[in-house]
Amino acid sequence: MTFINGLKCRECGREYPKRAIAGCEECFAPLEVDYDYDAVSRVLSRKVISARPNNVWRYRELLPLDREPAVGLTSGGTPLIRAERLGRELGIRDLYIKNDSVNSPTLSFKDRVTAVAINKALEFGLSAVGCASTGNLANSVAANAVSAGLPAYILIPDNLEPNKIIATSIYGARLIAVRGNYDDVNRLCTDLAERHPWGFVNVNLRSFYGEGSKTFGHEIAEQLGWRAPAAIVVPMAGGSLITKIHKGLKELEQLGLLEEEVRTRLFGAQAAGCNPITSAVRRGSTEIKPVKPATIAKSLAIGNPADGYHAARLIAKTQGWAEDASDQEIAAGIRLLAETEGIFAETAGGVTIAVTKKLIEQGRINADDLTVIAITGNGLKTPEAAGLSEPIVIEPKIAQFERVVLGLAATF
Ligand SMILES: *Cc1c(COP(=O)(O)O)cnc(C)c1O
Ligand SMILES: [Zn+2]
Repeated sequence: MTFINGLKCRECGREYPKRAIAGCEECFAPLEVDYDYDAVSRVLSRKVISARPNNVWRYRELLPLDREPAVGLTSGGTPLIRAERLGRELGIRDLYIKNDSVNSPTLSFKDRVTAVAINKALEFGLSAVGCASTGNLANSVAANAVSAGLPAYILIPDNLEPNKIIATSIYGARLIAVRGNYDDVNRLCTDLAERHPWGFVNVNLRSFYGEGSKTFGHEIAEQLGWRAPAAIVVPMAGGSLITKIHKGLKELEQLGLLEEEVRTRLFGAQAAGCNPITSAVRRGSTEIKPVKPATIAKSLAIGNPADGYHAARLIAKTQGWAEDASDQEIAAGIRLLAETEGIFAETAGGVTIAVTKKLIEQGRINADDLTVIAITGNGLKTPEAAGLSEPIVIEPKIAQFERVVLGLAATF
């Protein structure tokens, strides 16, 4: 049973059959999956969705597979947490965290997109998979390739965090560090995808891959009682996730599954050291001027974002905004989230928390806006970024504990 007609160019509308293809051959714009929403609406209801297991396949008619999924069966279904302490700290009443730092199998939201892309690689009969990655995608493709029984070629910039590298090589993937930044890596993968019958999940499988991100939005709406939030703050690298969350919400609205219209304002978060989308939004423009990344938020360090134009356009259209955070603010954001909510996020989470704080201070998000913060990756992958202090060291003696830890005078 399939609900997809094919692929369609986002800009010129040219149609393509379902296949591994990087973009429109006419105008080079990204391709979108073209669904038969009438057919979807005949089978998908709140009741049908609610009865299914808690993973991305809960919304399977809105994902671009032609067969039953064979891998990625544990991805998605992550918690939406009411964040009262953090909300008090930031001065906002109705705050939630969508916590993909505990996504499965590799602890980032990338497990959603990879779940879709690797199944698609199996359907297309491709002989290997791969990706250009800033770290999290590398982890996820390497793990899912094992489940699919496919070899993986993972290309990364040569400056990634040690834990992200370990969490890829452990799965036996061919890990290649390229001297250069993400944009150099991505260009190399584009050339490779033209010469070999391989599926690079974010290059020639990109139009399918991106659809997995919609489930981040589907889940938020369902978890809020079939309602879209007033505001959502999303970290941006290539700019895909923020646009797909919006698409996911609009789909549920179109299918009549939501209580109210979607009026969600999209807020984008980037690092100050790699802010091409944020700076376009600030200029009131959709024209992306590429930058050379220099930030501790390496998972977001894409200087020439593929979906930057689309993201900037949607942010403006929904009356949202975008801001950025310095390295110091990122580290403080990581600590604030951990100390208020008990969630240890990676650098992208630090960016998102720091930016949320600014947006509230600027009055762009109001105290009574139902707001969701997207936490997309786990802090154990970037522990060096938090700038932590050493533990207190004592002898195993009660007197030492009371003097050193509690500051009490010796009573013995
Ligand atoms: C990839 C990534 C993002 C952003 O994804 P885009 O869709 O490229 O904008 C956000 N957070 C983390 C942790 C990521 O790994
Ligand atoms: Zn086109």
